[in-house]
Amino acid sequence: MRSFDYVSPRRVEEVLVLLAAEDGQARPLAGGTDLVPLLKADLLRPQRLVNIKALPDLAGILYDATLGLYLGALTPLAAIERSEVIKRHYPILAEAVAVAATPQLRNMATVGGNLLQRSRCWYFRNPRLSCWLKGGDTCPLRDGESQFGAILGGGPCYSAHPSDLAPALLALEAEVTVRNRSGERTISLPDLFALPADDRRAETILAPDELVLAVRVPPAPPGTRSTYLKAMDRKVWAFALVGVGAVLRLDGRRVAHARLALSGVAPIPWRAREAEEVLVGAEVSDALFARAADAALAAAEPLARNGYKLPLARALIRRALAALAAE
Ligand SMILES: Cc1cc2nc3c(=O)[nH]c(=O)nc-3n(C[C@H](O)[C@H](O)[C@H](O)COP(=O)(O)OP(=O)(O)OC[C@H]3O[C@@H](n4cnc5c(N)ncnc54)[C@H](O)[C@@H]3O)c2cc1C
Repeated sequence: MRSFDYVSPRRVEEVLVLLAAEDGQARPLAGGTDLVPLLKADLLRPQRLVNIKALPDLAGILYDATLGLYLGALTPLAAIERSEVIKRHYPILAEAVAVAATPQLRNMATVGGNLLQRSRCWYFRNPRLSCWLKGGDTCPLRDGESQFGAILGGGPCYSAHPSDLAPALLALEAEVTVRNRSGERTISLPDLFALPADDRRAETILAPDELVLAVRVPPAPPGTRSTYLKAMDRKVWAFALVGVGAVLRLDGRRVAHARLALSGVAPIPWRAREAEEVLVGAEVSDALFARAADAALAAAEPLARNGYKLPLARALIRRALAALAAE
C-alpha cells in the first residue's frame, strides 16, 4: 500500500476545505470497508485520507410522518437493520441491509459509503488485469468470465452494481444531500447514479470535492408496502446475483403506485420504469406481475455466461410483487 496523509477533522467545513484543496487527491474515509481494499490493491492512490467518522451529527435516523426519513451519511447499515421505525414504514430498507455483507461489515459500513462503493467486478478489482472502468481500452468481462456481469445497460462497462441499499432507496425515490465549499445541493438517486462513460469512468456523478451529508426518503403514504429480495450464489455473505426492491400501493385490487429497482443486473442500480408503467392502473394478478417482469427485462442482453440472470430476475420480480399484493 502506498503512503498517504491521514487527517481527522471535527467539522464538516474542515473536511470540505481538505477535499477541495487536494484537487481531487483527497478521499473521505467512512467505514473503510470498500476504500481500504481499493487502497491495498493500488486501485486508488489518494494523497490524503480524510476520516469523516469523527464528524458529529452525520450518523442518525430520524423519522417524521410529514417529512419522511432522514438517514445521516454515516449511519451504519446495522442501525437501519435494527430500526423499528424503518421496519414499520420502510421494510424494504431493513430487508435490503439485512442481506448485505456480514454483521461485522454492517457495523462498519455506512449509508454514504454503500452508495459510493465501487464495482466488485473481478477484472476491476484485480490490480494485474486491465479493465475499461479503471482506464483500459475495453471491458474484458464482456467476452470473458461474464457470469456475474450486467444484462442491462452494459457498455462500455459490463459490471453489475453491488449495492443492496441503493436499489431499495431508488424504489423509495430517495435523494441525497451533498455539500462542497460552494454550497449544498440535493440529488435524486436516479441522477446520482449514471452509467459510466468515457469522460466519467465511475458509477456516480458525485464530484471529488463533494461530501454526502444525508439521504432523505419521502414519507410513505398509508398502505404503502415494500420489500427487497436477493438471490445469492450462497445463503449469506455474497453480493447479489440479482436483487429486487419493490414498492407497491393498491387502491382496491388496482395498482395505484409501483416502483421497482434492481441490483446485480446493470453497472448502476437499475430502475425498472417500464415495469412500473405496466403495473400502475392495472388489476393485480400473477399474469400482471409476469408482464411487469417481462417489461423490466425486455431490453436485457445477457452475455455468454450470465443468461441465468434473466429467469432469476423474472422470478424474483414476480415473487416480490406477489408477496406485496398478498400482504
Ligand atoms: C466481503 C464484503 C461483502 C460485501 N457484501 C455486500 C453486499 O452483499 N451488499 C452490499 O450492498 N454491499 C456489500 N459490501 C460492500 C459494503 O457494504 C461497502 O463496502 C460499505 O457499505 C461501504 O461503506 P463504508 O462506510 O465502509 O465506505 P468506505 O469504504 O469508507 O467508502 C467507500 C467510498 O465512498 C466514499 N465515501 C464514503 N462516505 C462518503 C461521504 N459521506 N461522502 C462522500 N464520499 C464518501 C469514500 O471516499 C470511498 O470512495 C460488501 C463488502 C465486503 C468487503
